[in-house]
Amino acid sequence: MVEEVRGAGRLSAVVLRDLGSGEAREMAVDGVFAKIGYRPDTEWLRGVVGLTETGYIKTDLLLRTDRPGVFAAGDVRDPTGRHPQTITAAAEGALAALAVEDYLKLGEAGDDPAVQ
Ligand SMILES: Cc1cc2nc3c(=O)[nH]c(=O)nc-3n(C[C@H](O)[C@H](O)[C@H](O)COP(=O)(O)OP(=O)(O)OC[C@H]3O[C@@H](n4cnc5c(N)ncnc54)[C@H](O)[C@@H]3O)c2cc1C
Repeated sequence: MVEEVRGAGRLSAVVLRDLGSGEAREMAVDGVFAKIGYRPDTEWLRGVVGLTETGYIKTDLLLRTDRPGVFAAGDVRDPTGRHPQTITAAAEGALAALAVEDYLKLGEAGDDPAVQ
């Protein structure tokens, strides 16, 4: 992690700490982009669908939550193994919409592509 930014009037280096070993080292840099991170606004869903410890909605690969008939797509989904990009969010939205259509037509069996 970046522990410190250094420079006299102008940025010249950052101090990086290895969280595994605890060791710190200085790295010369010309610029820094700060990524502040995200916190999904899903507290209202706690107890409704399964969430990760950090509040993302858990789904399977068919975008099903653990509540039948409820699907999730996009950045609000558990980020493990997915890339948070507009194109992946839009694609997941399309897939989830198709899964909803199948669910409405076929019930829970509609979640299973092998059934169609
Ligand atoms: C700084 C930054 C730069 C990025 N640059 C790129 C890039 O260059 N290329 C790229 O592909 N991706 C980029 N991304 C990622 C991209 O923006 C996201 O992956 C994408 O927007 C996710 O789409 P989404 O529909 O899942 O979520 P969002 O776009 O976050 O949409 C969710 C919407 O739901 C609304 N909402 C939230 N809670 C509720 C509620 N309770 N009721 C009703 N509405 C609600 C929110 O207000 C929001 O409008 C960037 C993201 C950030 C933050």
